[in-house]
Amino acid sequence: MQTQHVSAAPLSLSVRLRERWAAGIPCSSDVAFAFGVSFIWLALYNVRFWELSAAAMWHPSAGSVLFMASLFVLAWVVLALLLLLSPTRWAMRAAASLMFVIAAFGAYFMSEYGAIMNQEMMRNVLQTDPAEVGGLMNADLGLHVALLGILPALLVWRVRLPEVNWRAQLGRRAIAIVAALGVAVAGMFANSADYATFFREHKPVRYTLNPVAQVVGMVGLLAGGRDSRANAPLIDPAGKIERTAAASAKPLVLFLVVGETARAANFQLGGYGRETNPELAQISGVTYFSNTSSCGTSTAISVPCLFSHLPRTEFKVDEAGNYKNLLDSLVRAGFDVQWRDNNSGCKGVCARVSSIDYGQQHGFDDVMLADLPETLRKIDRDTVIVFHQQGSHGPFYSERYPRQFERFQPACRSNQLQHCSQREITNAYDNTIAYTDHVLASQIRMLREVSSQLDSVLIYVSDHGESLGENGIYLHGMPYAFAPAVQKQVPLLIWTSEGYVRRAQLQPDCLRTEAKLPVSHDFFYHTVLGAAELRNQVYDRRLDLIAGCRRGGGGE
Ligand SMILES: [Zn+2]
Repeated sequence: MQTQHVSAAPLSLSVRLRERWAAGIPCSSDVAFAFGVSFIWLALYNVRFWELSAAAMWHPSAGSVLFMASLFVLAWVVLALLLLLSPTRWAMRAAASLMFVIAAFGAYFMSEYGAIMNQEMMRNVLQTDPAEVGGLMNADLGLHVALLGILPALLVWRVRLPEVNWRAQLGRRAIAIVAALGVAVAGMFANSADYATFFREHKPVRYTLNPVAQVVGMVGLLAGGRDSRANAPLIDPAGKIERTAAASAKPLVLFLVVGETARAANFQLGGYGRETNPELAQISGVTYFSNTSSCGTSTAISVPCLFSHLPRTEFKVDEAGNYKNLLDSLVRAGFDVQWRDNNSGCKGVCARVSSIDYGQQHGFDDVMLADLPETLRKIDRDTVIVFHQQGSHGPFYSERYPRQFERFQPACRSNQLQHCSQREITNAYDNTIAYTDHVLASQIRMLREVSSQLDSVLIYVSDHGESLGENGIYLHGMPYAFAPAVQKQVPLLIWTSEGYVRRAQLQPDCLRTEAKLPVSHDFFYHTVLGAAELRNQVYDRRLDLIAGCRRGGGGE
């Protein structure tokens, strides 16, 4: 009796579930479907949006209550429009299905990492690679997407809608759209002062309206990309290029190390209290620029910007591919140029130079150095090698360095930062910086080894910084104007060989004095040209960090 009862219960439950599934979910109309689904999004998938909206606008007053109510209506209408504007009922279901999955991802990354779903983020999504995706995957995310994404996406197809001819359907939808917009717009007029503040002062909030923000960002990105001058000839802003120094007996070698996600705040050379640069601190000839701001807060913006002749304020990432860049000028001047990549690609910068992709080897950044001693010995002409590091790319910091470089312990050993303490996250991140320190020092030692044969300069700069949980924000990619300083302040350092100091007639200690001034990624293009003893039509001596320290010659 007892056993029968136990086995009968799950059976009847499964039968009931199956019947329930077959019966579907009743719904009175398309309009009810659209507003029902969008209400679920607004209530369950928009925690971040409501947190930020409340933080920005809430104060205990009747006016504030009215504003929040009106914002709720407005957001609800905007979300419902995503579905109501679908041309057919099938398209509406498909859109709802897809949006549930997109919204599930969005909700996860916004609440766990404080991510924002703007155009830059969509660009990162489009430009990502399997390694990066793998780095973000974890069981939590899988469960989250299965329950809040896949399951509702399937349920959407079980909603039973009454048969109505398309003319009547269209009529009802039109009435609903007009009425809903009317109410939403009336609410905006009634609270116009609050809305003015909200839209002007708190722009990032709108990038968290899930999943509208992702759709708007993606559409904007694709629309912007379409009119790109795909087949038009490249614009060469550089014009005539000339050497600024007499030919030398020794070839010149420049190492340009483009770091990844290293923030200035954690560099010992810039005053950080932990020994994250134990090796570089011992090397003479290193100048660290302690006040350097980045061009963007993501790789996709900063890397092309670094190699562009345009300053940050004029640089447009969509148009970067229309121009020849710094590497083109170096090639034109007769340099041998090579791009080595252990990151997610050169973002178009290395399109016309030789490149080696180390990404598939899944090695640490020293994988790019293995052949250097031999390669350097064979160099017989002026050469530039760019190293695009994996650096401190999150969230899986502990995967960026070999175990023996785990100086700071305990380190977060997960890509789910929310499961680690602040101290563990900082430890893991500092280990990545200490490892980068080792890689840079190794490169300098290799250049020193061949100093009798080559004059050399190493320039290291990170593409952007990183948030490590300050104010609940992790990773990077915030809109520039609103990003915290830690995402925009990056390490920059220059090392010159003794042979180069003599060759360029650099005044001792001059660079160290300059290194305290505020500089930025804008200086990179001109500093590299200057260091290579070159000048072209867009070269600006004021943005060349080395030029001012040359005695006599080296520009006017
Ligand atoms: Zn980056």
